[in-house]
Amino acid sequence: MPGRPRTYLDWNATAPLMADAREAMIAALDLSGNPSSVHGEGRALRALIDGARRDVAVLAGAEAAHVTFTSGATEAANMVLTPDFRMGRTPLKVGRLYVSAIEHPAVREGGRFEKEQVSEIPVMPSGVVDLVALETLLEAHDASSGLPMVAIMLANNETGIVQPVREAAAIVRKRGGLFVVDAVQAAGRIPLSIGEIDADFLVLSAHKLGGPKGAGALVSRGEVLMPAPLIHGGGQEKGHRSGTENAAALAGFAAAARAAREDIEARNARLAGLRDRMEDRMKALAGGLVIHGQGMPRLSNTTFFSLPGLKSETGQIAFDLEGIAVSAGSACSSGKVGASHVLTAMGFDAALGGLRVSLGPTTTEADVDRFLDAFARIAARRRQGVSAA
Ligand code: PLP
Repeated sequence: MPGRPRTYLDWNATAPLMADAREAMIAALDLSGNPSSVHGEGRALRALIDGARRDVAVLAGAEAAHVTFTSGATEAANMVLTPDFRMGRTPLKVGRLYVSAIEHPAVREGGRFEKEQVSEIPVMPSGVVDLVALETLLEAHDASSGLPMVAIMLANNETGIVQPVREAAAIVRKRGGLFVVDAVQAAGRIPLSIGEIDADFLVLSAHKLGGPKGAGALVSRGEVLMPAPLIHGGGQEKGHRSGTENAAALAGFAAAARAAREDIEARNARLAGLRDRMEDRMKALAGGLVIHGQGMPRLSNTTFFSLPGLKSETGQIAFDLEGIAVSAGSACSSGKVGASHVLTAMGFDAALGGLRVSLGPTTTEADVDRFLDAFARIAARRRQGVSAA
């Protein structure tokens, strides 16, 4: 709708590119060398990439040497979710992958494991991964097939619920397994440290924090234990991920990572205030409203709700017509809205679906008010039984 002011409340799908990231990218585009070349032009690009690696490492509480850049979180997940690892020069087999039922498809699809090598860890109706079920699953793990690998996200992209990954890590350690944490939604929003979580690997994406789409990283705990490469070729990224690095995208990723870790607490307090006010008002406006994960540890920017009588797809279109971008669960590449696997896993009637409102650092009181005005109109139309769209 050209000309109509838009209110963007879909930051969990992607964050608008930050001005700093844009500037860094444009500057990097003017560097003409290949980072693998030893001449001055090449070395300038290499220095830029090394700097980006340091910035992303700080974001993840990791060592720069342990950051492998990829084309995004999906690639990083596919790289790490594999039965084939090396411990130094020694091959190491992973026999089974255990993924939580609420993982993003990038992880839930199981990467390079055969479908029959993947088991699902259930979640409780609260939206939190069931750690008792994880223990039971790992107790029954057949060690003769190889090690167990467990993948649990730090914060869910639909509900925003922060998962008990440290406790999960303790369970995985007891069984000698590998632990992978998708930190895509958490990075830059809550403090992050691979060591504190006690994860072996973190998966990151640039575009959720204001960097460009198409850049991400696999962060490892050390340099010895690494997955077999997914992309083979010229040996870039220490042979873990070949292909000439996208230096401009990495410069943007680094700028976003630097900005994200500044004032994290103040930003969260402001966003939580906006979000809580929004949720209180929504509840007052619409009887029967369910806010998924309310009262649970959640990202301060996320509200995921269901309103009886309002289908998520219809609701999303209605908000779009009001000039407001929200999401009906997670965005699929096809643009279609499937039943939310997260709501299904929580035992909620997924046929109704949910709508996700996700705020970001530049979201204002006025944005939230515009959303609430639209919400009031859409909720009233639903009450009158008129098609919300
Ligand atoms: N993991 C989570 C939790 C996500 O929200 C997303 C993006 O939607 C991804 C992984 C995939 O990230 P990318 O778009 O960088 O491949």
